[in-house]
Amino acid sequence: MLDKSKSVHLFETAQNFIPGGVNSPVRAFKAVGGDPIFMQSAKGAIMTDVDGNEYIDLINSWGPMILGHAYDEITEAVSKAIPHSLSFGTPGALEVDIAELIVKMKPSIEKVRMVNSGTEATMSAIRLARGYTSREKVIKFEGCYHGHGDSFLIAAGSGAMTMGEPNSPGVTRGTANDTLTAPYNDLEAVTKLVAANKDQVAAIILEPVAGNMGCVLPNEGYLQGLRDLCTQEGIVLIFDEVMTGFRLAKGGAQELFGVQADLTTLGKIIGGGMPVGAYGGKKEIMDYVSPQGPVYQAGTLSGNPISMAAGLAMLKHLDTHPEVYEHINAQSAKIAEGTKENLKKLGLDYTTNEVGSMHSLFFTNVKVTDFDTAKTCDTALFGKYFNAMLERGIYLAPSQYETLFICNALTDEHVEAILKASYESLKEIH
Ligand code: PMP
Repeated sequence: MLDKSKSVHLFETAQNFIPGGVNSPVRAFKAVGGDPIFMQSAKGAIMTDVDGNEYIDLINSWGPMILGHAYDEITEAVSKAIPHSLSFGTPGALEVDIAELIVKMKPSIEKVRMVNSGTEATMSAIRLARGYTSREKVIKFEGCYHGHGDSFLIAAGSGAMTMGEPNSPGVTRGTANDTLTAPYNDLEAVTKLVAANKDQVAAIILEPVAGNMGCVLPNEGYLQGLRDLCTQEGIVLIFDEVMTGFRLAKGGAQELFGVQADLTTLGKIIGGGMPVGAYGGKKEIMDYVSPQGPVYQAGTLSGNPISMAAGLAMLKHLDTHPEVYEHINAQSAKIAEGTKENLKKLGLDYTTNEVGSMHSLFFTNVKVTDFDTAKTCDTALFGKYFNAMLERGIYLAPSQYETLFICNALTDEHVEAILKASYESLKEIH
C-alpha cells in the first residue's frame, strides 16, 4: 500500500475548515471511496503527492494541462508577466492578442469576451442568448454539464451526477422551469420540445462531445440536425467547448464535425492552467454585450494579465504545433485499443468510447450514447478500479462519469505502464 499519511492528515484538517475538505466536490473521492490525495508538484505527465508518491496523470487538471504540467513556455510567460503587476483592472495588450488568436483559430468566433471560469462563460452565454432573442427558455441535454450556474443544475452530469444531486437545493422553481431538458443524441425529442415551446426557446446548449457523463459521441448527423433546427427556429445554438475546445482539434469539435455554433463557450484550456473562461461567436450576437450592447456582463479580474500570458503562450504553441494533436490522439488511441485488448483477454465486455484525446471505459456492457445508458454503469466497480489504479501510480478522474484527458508529455513508456496497471487492476477487481 502507498504511504498516504500526509494526505490523510491534511484531509482531516481540511474538513474542519473547508466544506467536505475540498474546494470542488468531485475531488473528495466520495464517488470512489478513500481519501483524496493532496498534490505537491507536477511536471510533464507526472504528479507528485505530499507523501512523495508519483502518479501518471490522466486528468491534467481536467483538461488544461494539454502540454503537460509546468510547461516551460507557459511558466516562462507567466514569470515574465508577474513583475508587471498581477492585475490592472484596465485593458491590457495581451487581451487583444489572445482575442485575435482565438478568433483566428475558431472560425465561428468573430468576437470573444474573457471571463474567469467555464461556469461564468456558460452563464453569460445564455444571458446573452436570452437578451438577443427576447426569449426566456433554454434547452440543455440530460447528462451534459455546463458548470454550476443555476440554470444548468438540472439533469446535470459531472460532479452533480456523481454526487447523486442532479437537482441541487437552492435552484429556484422559476429557474428550473426555464430550463427544458431533452435526451442527448435524440433529434426527434428535441425537435418536439422546440415545437411544444414555439418561439419561446432562446438557446440550445450542449457539449458537442459530452465529457461529463463519460465520453459520449454525437450520433452521425446529430450536430448538423441541431444546427438546422436552431437556424429554422431562430434559436441560438451554443456549443459548450470547455472540454473539447482546442483539444479535439485547433478549432475544437466544430472543426472536427464541420458544424458551426452561434456562440461557443471556452474554459480552462485557454488559461493554460490559470483560471479563465471565454464566450464568443457571431459579431451580431456578441455586439449585444455591454458596453456595446444592453446585456450586462462584467468581471474585475477578467482578462487578468497573468492568465492572459499563460493562455496566450498555450494557444500560440497549439497554433504552431499541429503535431501536438497527432501525439495526444495517437497516445489516446493506444490506450483505447490496449484497454479493449485487456478486456478481451480477461473475458470482460465493458464499453469504451473514444474520440481524439478523449476516452472512457464504462463498467457496463450497454452501448453508451446518452445519460440513461451511462447510468447503467456499475459505479461501485469503477470505484474499485479507480483505487486499484491509484495504488499502481495511475491517477484517473475520481468518477465513472468523466473522460481521460491526455497530455502531450505522455510517452509510450507511460502508455505501457497505464495498460499494464489497467490489466492488473481489472483482474484484481473481478
Ligand atoms: N462546461 C463544461 C463542458 C465543463 O466540462 C465544465 C467543467 N468541467 C464547465 C462548463 C465549468 O467550468 P468551470 O469548472 O471552469 O466553471
